[in-house]
Amino acid sequence: MLCGAEYGIDEVDYVCPRHGNEGILDVIYDYEFIRRHISKAKLAESRDYSIWRYADLLPITNRQFIPPLQVGWTPLYHALRLGAQMGLAHLYIKDDGRNPTASFKDRASAVGIVKARELGKDIITAASTGNAASSLAGLAASVGLTTYIFVPERAPQAKVAQLLVFGANVVMVRGTYDQAFDLCLEASAEYGWYSRNTAYNPYLSEGKKTAAFEICEQLEWNPPDKIFVAVGDGCIIGGLWKGLKDLHALGFISRLPQLIGVQAEGSAVLVKAWQEGTEAITPIVPHTIADSISVGVPRDAIKALRAVRQSGGQFVAVSDEEILEAMRILARSAGVFGEPAGVTGFAGLRKSLEQGRVNPDEHVVVLVTGNGLKDVQSAIQAAGKPHIIEPTMDALREVMTHVS
Ligand SMILES: *Cc1c(COP(=O)(O)O)cnc(C)c1O
Repeated sequence: MLCGAEYGIDEVDYVCPRHGNEGILDVIYDYEFIRRHISKAKLAESRDYSIWRYADLLPITNRQFIPPLQVGWTPLYHALRLGAQMGLAHLYIKDDGRNPTASFKDRASAVGIVKARELGKDIITAASTGNAASSLAGLAASVGLTTYIFVPERAPQAKVAQLLVFGANVVMVRGTYDQAFDLCLEASAEYGWYSRNTAYNPYLSEGKKTAAFEICEQLEWNPPDKIFVAVGDGCIIGGLWKGLKDLHALGFISRLPQLIGVQAEGSAVLVKAWQEGTEAITPIVPHTIADSISVGVPRDAIKALRAVRQSGGQFVAVSDEEILEAMRILARSAGVFGEPAGVTGFAGLRKSLEQGRVNPDEHVVVLVTGNGLKDVQSAIQAAGKPHIIEPTMDALREVMTHVS
């Protein structure tokens, strides 16, 4: 991304040797070759309802290493009721909380697992605010790989529980996600573990791009005008852009959607860089209820900023209050329950509508990136308390006078 150097797939595993950890690589494809193997008609016949229906566009050489869990092909709902409330006739919700470990991260982990197995690695490691880790742990468990996971102390309990249940070796770091990330990179170098760190391992964003393939295929190859997505490190939005460009290069779609990256105000590093028109990042100490995007040093900043700029999109910041509000509205009007980061894209749509940046007739996709049960504490904070009563009709009638 920085110097334009190219390497063969056997030459490097992770980053550009010239630029170290800053030198994130991008996988380049031979579209002429791929076009001979994949077509819209062939896809329409495919009965593989997972990311692997797009295997021709993924950097894997051996299908035998694909883990058995069903990753991807998550539902894209035409949210009629919610859309009507918001004055949008074409609002679509893609619920990636429906993945096997309940977050978008499964798309990347699945590819990471295949790469680790292709290289004959038995141990795989990741640093994570929670979802990348629980995803890696679950997929690794399905094929018998060992995992070492570095999480910050503040990771929500449900995500830590997932890790432990899946049998991961969990190292909880007294510090931030950013510190856990750096420690994980050092550990993987010292012990020779395979690294599933996005914005380091170039293959992971390849998994993430499958969401863009699905959105376009599910909309019968009529891409939406705008896609709203939460941004922390920036890998998801960078991956979506890569996927859209793949489809465009293959001639599957004739125009490209705008990508709207949404960050929490307390970790809006990319929003700030965007506003200032720079690719240089000013690190912060993040603070937001949306733990999955609580990132002070976005590792995929350049890909994310370029995705938004090249697509003619925008960066938007939303407050924690707006995130909690978005969680309630999405759940109550569309029946989709997302964790705070999971609904941040939706919060960004609401804000953009308020600011007049979305036209009522536009086709809008909101990506929900993680399930609400991942962070029960925040959900309860968003939704309030139940009525607690004695088990009598009198007590119930008393409550009913207040609710009706
Ligand atoms: C990781 C994650 C994000 C942000 O993805 P980045 O690639 O870090 O920008 C958003 N939502 C959820 C639920 C996540 O787990």
